[in-house]
Amino acid sequence: MYADIAFPLKLHSLTYKIPEGASTDIEGRIVKASIGGRPALGLVVSVSAEPPVAKKKFREIEEVYGRFGSKAALPLILWLADYHVSTIGMALKTCFFEEAAALMQSGLVPSETDETQAAQGFYASMLYHAGSTKNELSLLADTVSGIKDNSKGIVALAPETVRLDQIAGALRAIFGERLCVLHGRLTKKKRMSAIERIISGDADVIAGTRSAVFAPLSNVSFISVAGEHSQSYKGEEGIRYNGRDVAVMRGFIEKSPVLLSSVCPSLESVYNSRTGKYVALNAKGFRIKGAGPMFADAVRSAVEGQQEVVRPKIEIINLQKRETISPAIIKQAKNIFSAGGRFLFLVNRQGYSLIRCDECGFMPRCGRCLVPMAFTKNNRVLRCGYCGETKPGFSVCPDCKSAKLSFFGAGTEKVKEEVERLLHAEALVIEKKHGRASAGEDMSGSSFVVGTSYARRKSKEQVFDGAAYLNIDAIVFQPDFRADEKAFQEIMELVQVIRPDSKIYLQTGDARRPLWNNLRHYDFGAFYDYELAQRKSLGYPPFSRTALLVVKSKSAVPGLQESVYSAVSSVSFPGLEILGPIERPPSGKAYRQQFHILLKAKDSRILHKASRSILGNLDGMKDVEAFADTNPYKI
Ligand SMILES: [Zn+2]
Ligand SMILES: [Zn+2]
Repeated sequence: MYADIAFPLKLHSLTYKIPEGASTDIEGRIVKASIGGRPALGLVVSVSAEPPVAKKKFREIEEVYGRFGSKAALPLILWLADYHVSTIGMALKTCFFEEAAALMQSGLVPSETDETQAAQGFYASMLYHAGSTKNELSLLADTVSGIKDNSKGIVALAPETVRLDQIAGALRAIFGERLCVLHGRLTKKKRMSAIERIISGDADVIAGTRSAVFAPLSNVSFISVAGEHSQSYKGEEGIRYNGRDVAVMRGFIEKSPVLLSSVCPSLESVYNSRTGKYVALNAKGFRIKGAGPMFADAVRSAVEGQQEVVRPKIEIINLQKRETISPAIIKQAKNIFSAGGRFLFLVNRQGYSLIRCDECGFMPRCGRCLVPMAFTKNNRVLRCGYCGETKPGFSVCPDCKSAKLSFFGAGTEKVKEEVERLLHAEALVIEKKHGRASAGEDMSGSSFVVGTSYARRKSKEQVFDGAAYLNIDAIVFQPDFRADEKAFQEIMELVQVIRPDSKIYLQTGDARRPLWNNLRHYDFGAFYDYELAQRKSLGYPPFSRTALLVVKSKSAVPGLQESVYSAVSSVSFPGLEILGPIERPPSGKAYRQQFHILLKAKDSRILHKASRSILGNLDGMKDVEAFADTNPYKI
């Protein structure tokens, strides 16, 4: 008998011989086998009587350990690799396989674990549109409290660390020592000990950020995804999976219910709940097909227990002149300050401002990202907001030597200057600094906080008495079919950190956009109707599927452009739209060239076939990296 074994390497699986007399029931197990003369730990993907290729000699498997995760782990890994047009080896690098394998080999965890059927034993994805993040938390806590005695294996995902702390706190109060927290910033040692607790069965309730969706539990009976719309579930490295989508697929394979919640659900999830693919928990008399009475009651009473939500007023300010902050906002901030309150000025640009020559129109741009660079007054440099690249500043135009330069498009530095000039009080700037992890800034002592959306993410609920989003236009005017959706979600998240009896101001240069009216009235129904109609007429997701193929090279590869063009032109499928290839400035300093190809199709199978064949055409080119980003978030 033969076994196909995948290793956590950029390789396809390899065939080995199962030693005479050894058990052949080893699919899904961790094994030791040599690869290139060295012992390595891999996963048995399949077992067959005949080898797939006629070869005289196969190496033998050296050692067999326990199963990796639950029975659903192998199918989930195969799906992960296939759906994202990647390899099983890359999927293994994504899902805590290496940690689990090392623990099994060292004998630190038992090889045989309890594999009784999951307690719920049915799959359903449910979507709850919550009034607040507080309500999302209580929905989760109430649901799991209701099923506590009848559930083994719970995975609760959070989009950000502030939310994770809250979820972990609530789950610890319910489950005590059964809780384990799993997130991307654990040290290797802490991660190993977390995985050890999970595999040994000491911990079966997992709270974590996106990668925790792969927690190697032997049973899963409930999965929840808070803030399901959040783009932090989407990865930027390795396999570009979306943690929410993996959660839904894991639930499906494990036969476990999945609860998605959000204060502003994604268009995709809203569409799925409108078409009946997901159970819409906001609908009166919802029914969860397949659920036992205990589970159904737990969800129903959690939904019924949701508190009525009061939200701050949203006011749209039409910017007339080129002022940085409208006088109405300054007036409100002043009132709040006098009453001892705190005001948040949000602006999604770091540095002082953009800069332009009045004579010739010259604007400094990042050589890599091509976006305008912001001038920082403090250290007199130009900085790219995307990659952090800096260039020396200038006082006369480098092109025409004119000294007539104008500053526009204020960033955090300029807003701080304006706030301090107009309000005569110090303002604290909170933003993510390039190249260093920001420590937990304490914002509580400052009356005026100026920050990027990073400041909003680092804040707890209702800590500000008012806020203004100064350049929401920077999101809305992006050439991105999700621009309005992203703006709506951004504002709904801002709402969470503002006291409900106060006000949020949105400054815009185009006050007639339909989006503003829907935002002002918190009219989600109208917003979703409008967006879905737009997407449908343009054939964008959720009415089609997209995949972004990225081809990068670290050196100047002769003929790369021609190869990319011919790889693309040789592919055609009915209903497939191909945009590109276009050459893009490389992301990341290590790269020299980069090409993007956007594929769009109604049928996801066609999309996958096309992705696979284009990437296949580029396979084996030296120094060239090519991968697919299925359902990309950034285009
Ligand atoms: Zn000039
Ligand atoms: Zn840049």
